[in-house]
Amino acid sequence: RNIARIMGVPVDKGSLVDATNRIKELLNKDGCSQVVTPNTEIVMSAQEDKELLKVIEEADLVIPDGIGLIYASKIKKKGLTERVTGVDLMAQILNYCNEEEKSIYLFGGKPNVANMAAENILKKFPNIKIAGTQDGYYKAEDEEKIIDSINEIKPDVLFTALGAPRQEKLIYKYKNILKVKLAAGVGGSVDIWAG
Ligand code: UDP
Repeated sequence: RNIARIMGVPVDKGSLVDATNRIKELLNKDGCSQVVTPNTEIVMSAQEDKELLKVIEEADLVIPDGIGLIYASKIKKKGLTERVTGVDLMAQILNYCNEEEKSIYLFGGKPNVANMAAENILKKFPNIKIAGTQDGYYKAEDEEKIIDSINEIKPDVLFTALGAPRQEKLIYKYKNILKVKLAAGVGGSVDIWAG
């Protein structure tokens, strides 16, 4: 990996194509890989939130989802050349899953948002398998049950949409036991897919 440090936070250098190639690599290796898509706000939060910094430090791919990160990089000559958005990367992941007939699980958003997103994803990517959906307004004590049900299904990709940084911390908390290949916090992207 070729990493730039922006205000102490590691970010992978490269384009959307580079990030997509990394995704393919991660989807074809063992264990659960975590993808994070920090914007400027998250990099600022990570200055004080040491747990969040650890999540990003240990992630397997970190894309610069904020033009502020590119400006900061240019001023300090850190080598980030272009913004790579979570929305665009999610589309690339979906495209690859469609080609390879892989399965996805959508976790988050208001009741029925994940279902509507799944329907629209299937219209565009008919070979994707929708492994399951779960809304993001569950009781805290049900969290482990949700993780267990994801593990029973073993989707290739888990998208979380619980708001940042909660969606990233949730993946981090369970990534050693999650039976998924790739987990990514995608926030509002699920709402966009829901239409
Ligand atoms: N969300 C959720 N559960 C919550 C809070 C938020 O599922 O308890 C969902 C929300 O419905 C939206 C997504 O998380 O789909 C992103 O939320 P928000 O706009 O707060 O986060 P951001 O985009 O700023 O990361």
